[in-house]
Amino acid sequence: MRLFVAIEFDEKTKSKMIDVQDQLRAAVLHGNFSRPENLHLTLAFLGEVPEERVGGIIRAMDRISSRAFDAQFSRIGQFRSERDSLWWIGMRENPCLTAMRAALTEYLTEAGYQYDKKRFRPHITIARQVVLASRPEIKIKPFGTRVSSISLMLSERIDGKLKYTELYRKKLEG
Ligand code: ATP
Ligand code: MG
Repeated sequence: MRLFVAIEFDEKTKSKMIDVQDQLRAAVLHGNFSRPENLHLTLAFLGEVPEERVGGIIRAMDRISSRAFDAQFSRIGQFRSERDSLWWIGMRENPCLTAMRAALTEYLTEAGYQYDKKRFRPHITIARQVVLASRPEIKIKPFGTRVSSISLMLSERIDGKLKYTELYRKKLEG
């Protein structure tokens, strides 16, 4: 099973992300835009995990004692490749996020799970394979949301369509 741990967002927060996405949409020649239900922030990408090892991930998540916190979004950015680029909305660095993510990765490691070790750059992907037609004029009005849980997500391709399913939700205290 292809798994990752992520922050999921409420509809109101996602609609603000979609506003940003729509501004980008107006300036592209090509782009694979994330569907609203797929907008998320990845905390740890586990990749392929055998079904019998899912319980250990849930136990690692349950060890986290971090409290709920307020997160802010104020910028967009790109990860570029030669051909195209991936566009994202960044979550502002935040001590609560850093500590919670550190606890998660520590507990996953202790339990013997591998996750992606690249530098953590908290972001929500809004579009992949973007090729611009014109310079986008994106005005992002900073917005915030409360992060009060984290989710274990299953990633599947069904008839070519990307589908994420929440397998478990860990509530953060407070
Ligand atoms: P697809 O790869 O099919 O285009 P996707 O990247 O959204 O779609 P997954 O590859 O299953 O789906 O990834 C799920 C989440 O984990 C996404 O947020 C993705 O950016 C992130 N992710 C995937 N691979 C890695 C990786 N090697 N390192 C860090 N994060 C990753
Ligand atoms: Mg991927």
